[in-house]
Amino acid sequence: MTDGAFAPEAAAAGDRRGPIGTYLDALHARLLPLRDGDVARYIPELATADPDDFGIAIATVDGRLYTTGASDRAFTIQSMSKPFTYGLALKTHGVERVLEQVGVEPTGEAFNSIVLDDVNNRPFNPMVNAGAIAVSELLPGFTPETRLAALLRFFGDLAGRPLSVDEAVFRSERDTGHRNRAIAYMMLNSGMITAPPEEVLELYFKQCAIRVTCADMAMMAATLANRGTQPVTGKAVLGPDQIRDMLTLMSTCGMYDYAGQWAYEVGLPAKSGVAGGIVAVIPGQAGIAVYSPPLDAHGNSIRGVAVCKAISRDFGLHAFSDRTTVQTVIRREYRVSEVRSKRLRSQAEAEALSREGHRVAVLEVQGALFFGSAERLIRRLSDLAPECMAVVVDFKRCSDADPAAVRLLAETVARFAAGKPELVFTHVPAGHPVAQLLPGGAQDSGHVHTLPDTDSALEALENDLLSDVFETADLTRFALARIDLFKGLDAAGLKALEGAISSFQFDAGARVVAEGDEANAFFIVASGAASISVRLSDGQRRRVASVGPGQSFGEMALIEGGRRTADVHADSAMICYAFSIDRIRQIAETKPEVLTTILQNLVISLTTRLRHANEEIRNLV
Ligand code: GLN
Repeated sequence: MTDGAFAPEAAAAGDRRGPIGTYLDALHARLLPLRDGDVARYIPELATADPDDFGIAIATVDGRLYTTGASDRAFTIQSMSKPFTYGLALKTHGVERVLEQVGVEPTGEAFNSIVLDDVNNRPFNPMVNAGAIAVSELLPGFTPETRLAALLRFFGDLAGRPLSVDEAVFRSERDTGHRNRAIAYMMLNSGMITAPPEEVLELYFKQCAIRVTCADMAMMAATLANRGTQPVTGKAVLGPDQIRDMLTLMSTCGMYDYAGQWAYEVGLPAKSGVAGGIVAVIPGQAGIAVYSPPLDAHGNSIRGVAVCKAISRDFGLHAFSDRTTVQTVIRREYRVSEVRSKRLRSQAEAEALSREGHRVAVLEVQGALFFGSAERLIRRLSDLAPECMAVVVDFKRCSDADPAAVRLLAETVARFAAGKPELVFTHVPAGHPVAQLLPGGAQDSGHVHTLPDTDSALEALENDLLSDVFETADLTRFALARIDLFKGLDAAGLKALEGAISSFQFDAGARVVAEGDEANAFFIVASGAASISVRLSDGQRRRVASVGPGQSFGEMALIEGGRRTADVHADSAMICYAFSIDRIRQIAETKPEVLTTILQNLVISLTTRLRHANEEIRNLV
């Protein structure tokens, strides 16, 4: 760590900017006395810069800005504009056209060197002056004015606020920039550009004279870190392919003839400008910008390089210091024998599921799917295939999947012969890359089903498992004696109960019981199924259990009598038998054992459910 970083006293003093703000202050204080180098003088207006102006800013991909020093001081963007203009050219013309205009090869030479790639008849790369001047010709628009307007609009979109040209710096460079003029005319001479050089140069000089602050540059870099979406405004300014190409060239050519050393020590795509700015990108995380005018022999800000070296080292940001984890892609794996759906089951069914449930597996995927993590997932799927009737893959916590992962997954499932095991994907929102594998999707192989959530998938698969074990469970053919709640009642007791039944029919979606209603009956499902749900504080509903043929609900009324504590809705067309509590109590007056037996069964079923819930909690940690 840099001296003074994360000083405990500062933390104790309660710095509201937190450890990162404290760190930046300490770094600034440590590097301010570094008085090497000199400000750029070849553009006269730049020579007026104050060598002790020194600002640092870090912007995160969600728009949080950490700053220190002169982070609001305006200066001209100069060559830091180059990767961004290149991005605009890619966005406007596509990569093929842009590659005709400029190459991607580092020169190993200074930013203003007069070397051109004669073999390919184009400048070597867009990060040096020659390449950037050639790219200026690609700006969208038909007149110099509309091109400048498009450029400023684009830079403003990246920064999240309108930007303008520093006219004094522009004029100063236009009047003295004869080396760039020479480059432009050489390129005209060999046909690398075709527009009048003065027009191209005017745009290029204006682009270099755009006035920015460290905070602006950090935001522009954060937009690149955030896959092209401006963190604060949410505007999608660039696409991921353009970002990748821009970051590649910043990595290989952004620091000119210092690029190799920079890659070795800092390892972040970056770009410098002769006004003293350096901007660096931490892909997926943040943008960094530094302003300090004194330059080294390469034309890079001396304090800027030192700041980036320190930040990269102290926070482990080098692009090749790998932090990808593929081991955690499967967050949790379990079988139906260990964890069941919320469907309440009879004892016989529950026993069958404990016995047969190992044939249904659930894999919960987390994080992003890419080559390495997808390989883990498809390997596990292939291992499970022979032993499972079905595998549920839960994508609730799968943030993303790249095209390679989708392809690997598609090929894996297509290999499962005749769709065995059955694959059910849950929690796949529309637009998730994995949705391509679902019925109707681009990569639909007909082998994958989908259900909105894992609980309903488990319920359906349990029903399949049970239908293998039992014949279709339909209570219209059930004797009351086979219902858990009435177990142990003698013939006379059952007969008495039969007289207390009234049957009801419900359409799919109908509400059978409403939370708060008077609880004066309990129900047994004869056919169909129902969901028991509670209302959450945000108005949403959560399903807590479901019931099917032979299962009872509302039986707490026997104990409490008061009000319903949950809603019950029919999941499908449903027939229910209702038992009025008053009638049961009447029966109990002459046959008390009817009520005591039912209550005893109720206690058994509640303890079984509680034990099962405890078991599930154990299996899910
Ligand atoms: N406008 C400057 C030039 O062309 C940009 C150079 C730079 O920032 N490295 O010389």
